[in-house]
Amino acid sequence: MSTLRNNVSEDGKKVIQNISTIQQYINGEFVDSSSHQTFTNYNPYTNEPINEVASGNDRDIDIAVAAAKKAFNGEWGRLPIQRRMVYLNKIADLIDEHIEEIAPLESYDTGLPLKQTKKMVARAAQNFRFYAEMVSSRLVGEVYQVDDEFLNYTIHKPVGVAGLITPWNAPFMLETWKIAPALATGNTVVLKPAEWSPLTANRLAEIIHKADLPKGVFNVVHGYGETAGAALVRHPDAPLISFTGETKTGVEIQKNGAEAMKQFSMELGGKSPIIVFEDADLDRALDACTWGIFSFNGERCTANSRLYIHESVAEEFIERLKTRVDHIQVGDPLDLKTEVGPLIHREHYNNVKQYLKIATEEGAELYQTTVPDDLRQGCYVPPTLLLNVEQGMRVVQEEIFGPVLSVMTFRDEADVIEKANAVRYGLAGYVWTKDLQRGHRVAHAVDAGMLWVNSQNVRDLRTPFGGSKHSGIGREGGHYAFEFYTEVQIIHVAMGDHHIPQFGKPTTR
Ligand code: NAD
Repeated sequence: MSTLRNNVSEDGKKVIQNISTIQQYINGEFVDSSSHQTFTNYNPYTNEPINEVASGNDRDIDIAVAAAKKAFNGEWGRLPIQRRMVYLNKIADLIDEHIEEIAPLESYDTGLPLKQTKKMVARAAQNFRFYAEMVSSRLVGEVYQVDDEFLNYTIHKPVGVAGLITPWNAPFMLETWKIAPALATGNTVVLKPAEWSPLTANRLAEIIHKADLPKGVFNVVHGYGETAGAALVRHPDAPLISFTGETKTGVEIQKNGAEAMKQFSMELGGKSPIIVFEDADLDRALDACTWGIFSFNGERCTANSRLYIHESVAEEFIERLKTRVDHIQVGDPLDLKTEVGPLIHREHYNNVKQYLKIATEEGAELYQTTVPDDLRQGCYVPPTLLLNVEQGMRVVQEEIFGPVLSVMTFRDEADVIEKANAVRYGLAGYVWTKDLQRGHRVAHAVDAGMLWVNSQNVRDLRTPFGGSKHSGIGREGGHYAFEFYTEVQIIHVAMGDHHIPQFGKPTTR
């Protein structure tokens, strides 16, 4: 418990000290996995076990999907939007009330710095409020006045049981990002959270339980991707799968769900460029670049993991970047001063370390600080700059998902656009220039789902979110989420006795 700093509220400390075995949440009850098997959850700061977690299998998924289907066909499916809004707002209120315990719990489980998890938990509450509000104003059909004989109109119907599969980075917020629109539009939910970050998924189940949702509307099945996750993907009664995670997992999920004709939303990996022109506000660009790669321990899908700095200002910019790296506060995730904490898990830590080895083998030069001795037991990778890297190297092409920035220079606009686009990912991009025309032009030319000009990753909840190329399929966020979580039905109504061809009608002689 040495990690429980003064920064953690008394409620937060109590919740962490009372962590026990986590069960599934199915049909309004906390239950063991049908196999009674569990897996061990680890603390990335100490590398010690925290607790045991129910390990779900096909049987658990069957039970959860059946409960969700029953709830959908029962009370929930017929509930007016206004009543659903009340539930969503209640969940939001409960999250807001408990931020001071959910945020430390998330930091304790994931290694994400407390200052950052507090913001993400607040955002989770906003997700529920936002979709409660938006569903009443934006879930609207269209009316087509075809002619005097017909009126056609569309309605947006919930699809049924939504299967939600989520990752471990910012887990609480990312879960709510899917749950809120799924419930708002009238679906029921089976959530399969990431196995490395089960604590706040369980806390969310407790909160939703307290909000008194009808039984079966919201279910959580913990477990491994290959067992619980795969069973959800294959289940014939869960027609929607919203997935956020690695690209290779997304590919496998699409293959596995193809036979059951699943609808997929895919939010996948990224290798996003930050392009800094010579005329940019270099102070602000430096702030944005540092924050964009090192916040959330670099475990961020939209992280700017490739810097392209114009060659005329590169030397000075890189020197300043080094100074920032030297001064980043690496520490205990539960300390509010900490800017970078430990990576989520020993396995992921090993992957990131392996990339640093690959970088050296490929001829890159590493610039990093050393991890203080008292942190050596944890999964710490110090903030790292990869210098002397080239476009073709693996560390430039592949997602590392840690506090590691590849630094490159460019000659001119055409050169940087070509380099920015020469990866398989296309999630996000950042352009820094005072030339407004160039800002727009380059943003249009970068093949990515989301571009920010002279800004770090600031997102209004009304705007869509998603990637192109290998970074995703479809868009979530704003009213775009409604397109995924609903089925459009077209109703054709005749307003008179229009002509109907008469086939096989016996003729009278
Ligand atoms: P991951 O793909 O390993 O796991 C994500 C989830 O999928 C987990 O719940 C896991 O148990 C489950 N899973 C694994 N194999 C499965 C299978 N065969 N069938 C069904 N489910 C399966 O991803 P991760 O390591 O948890 O998360 C990091 C990745 O997520 C990074 O690539 C990151 O870029 C990406 N990400 C993308 C976004 C986005 O919006 N585009 C946001 C956050 C994270």
